[in-house]
Amino acid sequence: MSGWRRHVLARKEKGSRNRAKARLKVVKIHGRIADRRRDYLHTLSTRLVRENQVVAIEDLSVRNMVKNRSLSRVISDAGWSEFRSMLEYKADWYGRRVVVIDRFCPSSKTCSVCGVIAGAMPLNVREWACRCGVVHDRDVNAARNILAVGLAVAACGDGVRPPRT
Ligand SMILES: [Zn+2]
Repeated sequence: MSGWRRHVLARKEKGSRNRAKARLKVVKIHGRIADRRRDYLHTLSTRLVRENQVVAIEDLSVRNMVKNRSLSRVISDAGWSEFRSMLEYKADWYGRRVVVIDRFCPSSKTCSVCGVIAGAMPLNVREWACRCGVVHDRDVNAARNILAVGLAVAACGDGVRPPRT
């Protein structure tokens, strides 16, 4: 084997070992992030369940949202279904109630102050102004609506259904 060939081979081998090492490192970092995320979800779900009689969450269609590329990262990172199941079994432990709101409830585009339902609300709209003059943060407004429906369901039983569009 000529000198330059040995040199190229040696470089290749070294390169692939380094790549393998780098890959292992990436896997380890992902593992640590997953552990930290799970710890965080446990702390948060325990706190929410202990401090509240009723926890209202929206039944998001995670599978459909994950198809949406811009959302897929956020949704999988948030570990939504894992978080929901933590809330549900901890609510059982503490005698609390988790109310799951219909995913077709127009929580984002209903004004939580006057109740008017706004027009189309694409996902990139993070803030909107209602005709009544109130300016909403999309997520905060949706959370208020989800809580209101959740409390109504908890008080009146499952007969209460949010309006569908
Ligand atoms: Zn309004």
